[in-house]
Amino acid sequence: MTLEEIREQALALAEPQFKKFEPIALANTKKVLQAFKACQVSDYHFNGSSGYGYNDSGREKLDEVFAHVFKGEKALIRAHFVSGTHALATTLMALLGNGKDGNEFVYAVGAPYDTMQSVIGSTREVRGSLIEKGFIYHEVPLVDSTYDLEGIVDAVNENTRVVVIQRSRGYSTREPLSIADIRTICDVVKAKNPNTICFVDNCYGEFTELEEPLEGGADIMAGSLIKNAGGGIAPTGGYVVGREDLVEDVAYQLTAPGLGNHMGSYAPGYRLFFQGLFLAPHVVLQALKGAVYTAAVGQLLGYEVFPNVDAERFDLIQAINLHNADEMEQFCRGMQAYSPVDAHVRPVPGDMPGYEDQIIMAGGTFVQGSSIELSADGPVRPPYTIFMQGGLVFEHSMLGILGAAEEILANRK
Ligand SMILES: *Cc1c(COP(=O)(O)O)cnc(C)c1O
Repeated sequence: MTLEEIREQALALAEPQFKKFEPIALANTKKVLQAFKACQVSDYHFNGSSGYGYNDSGREKLDEVFAHVFKGEKALIRAHFVSGTHALATTLMALLGNGKDGNEFVYAVGAPYDTMQSVIGSTREVRGSLIEKGFIYHEVPLVDSTYDLEGIVDAVNENTRVVVIQRSRGYSTREPLSIADIRTICDVVKAKNPNTICFVDNCYGEFTELEEPLEGGADIMAGSLIKNAGGGIAPTGGYVVGREDLVEDVAYQLTAPGLGNHMGSYAPGYRLFFQGLFLAPHVVLQALKGAVYTAAVGQLLGYEVFPNVDAERFDLIQAINLHNADEMEQFCRGMQAYSPVDAHVRPVPGDMPGYEDQIIMAGGTFVQGSSIELSADGPVRPPYTIFMQGGLVFEHSMLGILGAAEEILANRK
């Protein structure tokens, strides 16, 4: 098959899916606009602050708007979270506290995202990890690539303070969770122990459906601002939204007891966070289109793809099992050449802290490490899975994935 044939046929395969995403983006854009209106956002809320940041109205308004959109009682939207991992770790530490309300916690849907394994200390000894601090960790393994409801019920007991529900597949080929799945899990957890907190790792899930995890019964959720919820232009940060008492605990953990969310300045100002939230539903639509198109191209090239072209999507990740390590390099090289930044750079496999295998990565992004922008990566080992995600504009995703296909085809001859 020629590149031209792939380009056309992939679009024909993908387009019926686009029609399913468009009404979701429309409804979510309306939801965001209604929140901006209800919270009376004005341009002075974009101003920065300095020093302690007392009475920083931009910071307070941003919290209010996020709480409104995600249907939480309270929210904490901070550039002071250095990443999604930091927001998730801060939340977990705050919820576990001193262990007197229960010192056990459970990951309900298989192994955590790689960086969270370090936070927990589940796969190796990590200085300062939750396990090292004395908390007891349980992980409920997947059954048939999805969650095991009976296993979850068994893992929850009277000492279980938190159940973590990771919505996205992360670096695995399991199915991501829908809001309906999250509701099912929260229901069985609460039935077993009504005091157990259901905490959703919402990374990559925001705005893929009409509802968000708190509407599915979760108590609290957290994520990154350089993924979906930042709309591709938030420069850094993380967010936490949920029950008021719990979010307050997280604020005390992030700053200090007594200070909580009453302090914290951000001199550059908040416009990019507000504007990012405004753009987010549309950007998620663009990324979903890119993921489906990538699945179609992968399928036409003869690869196994996760999920399939016509699957429902509850995260932005598209995995493709390539055939060997050389193809992983070719894929990344081809995609990198269509990046707006560092297009002249040739990706090669390299060592990364915390990973046993070498990692190959394509990602010429405006915001460093942003994975709502078009990017692809994977550990160089069988089954040679490349994980593609993001893409702020569908046209760019098309060019990037066709660049990858071109490179692979050129090397097949
Ligand atoms: C990206 C991600 C994280 C961590 O976010 P960073 O901003 O990269 O630290 C955690 N969990 C999941 C499921 C993710 O996709």
